[in-house]
Amino acid sequence: MREWSVSSVNPNPLPLVFEQKRGRVKPPRHLADLTADERTAVAEALGEPAFRVKQVANHYYARLERDPANMTDLPAASRDRIVAELLPTLLNPVRTMEADKGATVKSLWKLFDGALVESVLMRYTDRATICVSSQAGCGMACPFCATGQGGLERNMSCAEIVDQVQDAAGKMTRGEIAGGPGRLSNVVFMGMGEPMANYKAVIGAVRRMVAPAPDGLGMSARNITVSTVGLVPRMKQLADEGIPVTLALSLHAPDDELRNELVPINTRWSVHEAVEAAWEYAQKTKRRVSIEYAMIKDINDQAWRADLLGDVLQSYGDWGWVHVNLIPLNPTPGSMWTASRPEDEREFVRRLIAKGIPTTVRDTRGSDIDGACGQLAAVEG
Ligand code: SAH
Repeated sequence: MREWSVSSVNPNPLPLVFEQKRGRVKPPRHLADLTADERTAVAEALGEPAFRVKQVANHYYARLERDPANMTDLPAASRDRIVAELLPTLLNPVRTMEADKGATVKSLWKLFDGALVESVLMRYTDRATICVSSQAGCGMACPFCATGQGGLERNMSCAEIVDQVQDAAGKMTRGEIAGGPGRLSNVVFMGMGEPMANYKAVIGAVRRMVAPAPDGLGMSARNITVSTVGLVPRMKQLADEGIPVTLALSLHAPDDELRNELVPINTRWSVHEAVEAAWEYAQKTKRRVSIEYAMIKDINDQAWRADLLGDVLQSYGDWGWVHVNLIPLNPTPGSMWTASRPEDEREFVRRLIAKGIPTTVRDTRGSDIDGACGQLAAVEG
């Protein structure tokens, strides 16, 4: 967690802006950035009893509320000030786009410094998933991903990540998503950014998501998926956190020659190292890991690559530690690559299954609103 210095609490209700090292500026401090100790200190600095912060936390995490007008248990005179200090607006809505008759909603947010990020809410019959961003932009430069083309703007704060989830959870309970009131059940870190490159904020956010209310959103860790290009030291660290989140490894090729091109960080941590770290994660957490594989026509979808992928995964045993999730490539601007032919995709699946690897093909929700995997580019207009 970020260490917030209490002396810097601003007595006026405008959101605070902190100077960051490297001369940059941090997002306003928010309830979701605070540890339990920091909460108490902030209450003191506000001249309020400690239970005020708990009341605000109850509104934010349990009632999924953020409007001071609806927090009638707070003293009317100081309500606005307390809420402005603890729940400054982090995500300013720029635009929302809907698909699937309103069951898929993509939101474009402007952050306090003008950075743009997107999140995508997807409602299914049995669950509702929010796909969140962890960075504005991304530094991993995967050539088939729209986010990767723009480079990294900055890391998001813990609260900027949590707030995307709290917003989606609120929309679900208030019945603002087609299908009537419901509950947000799943979170996937598959929006903009590489979550393992913003480790501290991402883990902090996961802790807020799983903490029972009123300290957090009370979600199940199993229903939270962290997707990574394969930053091996961070994958190992994640395995030791003791939070059984689901890990997804974006592999996209079973051989280093091709993966060096598709996922450039492979030149630092190879297919073997990344898969071994995924296997270690499964061993330690007893959670089945997911291998993500975008199916790109005539690039990575050959039958021999399916066999090789099956062999690579099989070499770690067949105790059900892994499953493969194939993602038909979503088109991105300026890319000449397209999704695999249906018959090649079918053959790829058949060969993996023949090797005993459970394999599914992801449905491409939101592709008509550029909200599908790899299409988030966050442009206004
Ligand atoms: N940086 C993380 C999480 C974000 S992307 C990661 O790479 O895992 C979520 C998934 O979408 C990743 O598996 C990513 O490789 C995949 N993806 C990116 N661009 C895509 C595209 N154009 N079509 C299909 N999947 C894509």
